[in-house]
Amino acid sequence: MTEDPHGLYPVLIAEDNPVSRKLLEKSLTRAGYAVTATEDGRQALEQLNRRFFPIVITDWMMPEMNGMELCQAIRAADFPGYVYIMLLTALDTKDDIIAGLKAGADDYLTKPFNQAELMARLNTGRRILELERSLRKANEEIRLLSVTDPLTAVYNRGYINTHLPEEVARARRYRRALSTIMCDIDHFKRVNDTYGHQAGDAVLQSFAAALRHGTRANVDWVARYGGEEFLIVLPETPGAGAESVAERLRQGVERLVIVHEGREIRITASFGVAGYDECPYGDLAPETVIASADACLYQAKKEGRNRVVSAFSAAQTP
Ligand code: GH3
Ligand code: MG
Ligand code: MG
Ligand code: MG
Repeated sequence: MTEDPHGLYPVLIAEDNPVSRKLLEKSLTRAGYAVTATEDGRQALEQLNRRFFPIVITDWMMPEMNGMELCQAIRAADFPGYVYIMLLTALDTKDDIIAGLKAGADDYLTKPFNQAELMARLNTGRRILELERSLRKANEEIRLLSVTDPLTAVYNRGYINTHLPEEVARARRYRRALSTIMCDIDHFKRVNDTYGHQAGDAVLQSFAAALRHGTRANVDWVARYGGEEFLIVLPETPGAGAESVAERLRQGVERLVIVHEGREIRITASFGVAGYDECPYGDLAPETVIASADACLYQAKKEGRNRVVSAFSAAQTP
């Protein structure tokens, strides 16, 4: 977020000269900016670590930390967005300007500054910040699309391939619990055959949504493993917890009524649960965890479907 609660654009000033600082503060406030003024680079950096400022106007010569050092510190830091830095300096030799730009400043203005020029240059800065923001947003959307299944909007197989190994590695390193649930819609072929492929797609969407809503957002994650088979990963969740999640999901799916073109479609699903109450050290391939959950799912199908089978304990029947 760039705007402050009052809709003003936040600007951070670092300037040790009190007269110059007041002058800047006044003209920027009058122009509608939300100004925070500090007396040197160190104070400015402290402010930046507390909250994000998209624009920093800094003096060159200051005690504690000068403008060039502040520029370098900002560029080395990992803030949530780009910080546009305007160097304000009495020095106007080419060498100083080059040094400032090299240190990471985007623009410079020599003191005493002209009010209209400062505002015009800040507008340029805001244009660049806007571009940066829309680029960042587009990149994030592309990243999300690349790991999302287009039909069901849950994660895709690619996401499993990159993230399951990470989950397993983390659980192993800290010897934490990790559970996985493999589930598959029962006799889904019949849905397609009876109601048509479009209805089948609608069923898949409702099923995936039920899995998502039935698990903890931001902690657990749901991915389409393939066809009508989905994987749910539950970090920090021991077997007993995963089993009750699976059983709750099973009951939820059983109650689900999917209305497609005026027709009511009901489904059931089978669930296989596997994982570790305390993840062991040593070699543990993500494929092993999936294979174990898949074996339980196969068992659930064999035992009559619409049930949960867990590798943690004996089979559960509805
Ligand atoms: P079981 O209870 O043993 O799981 O039987 P099933 O019919 O669900 O399993 P099977 O593997 O025989 O059939 C899966 C069906 O899922 C066949 C395939 O056409 C269908 N399917 C896979 N992906 C999609 C999809 O994206 N949309 C639709 N509509 N159907 C799909
Ligand atoms: Mg100074
Ligand atoms: Mg099936
Ligand atoms: Mg299947």
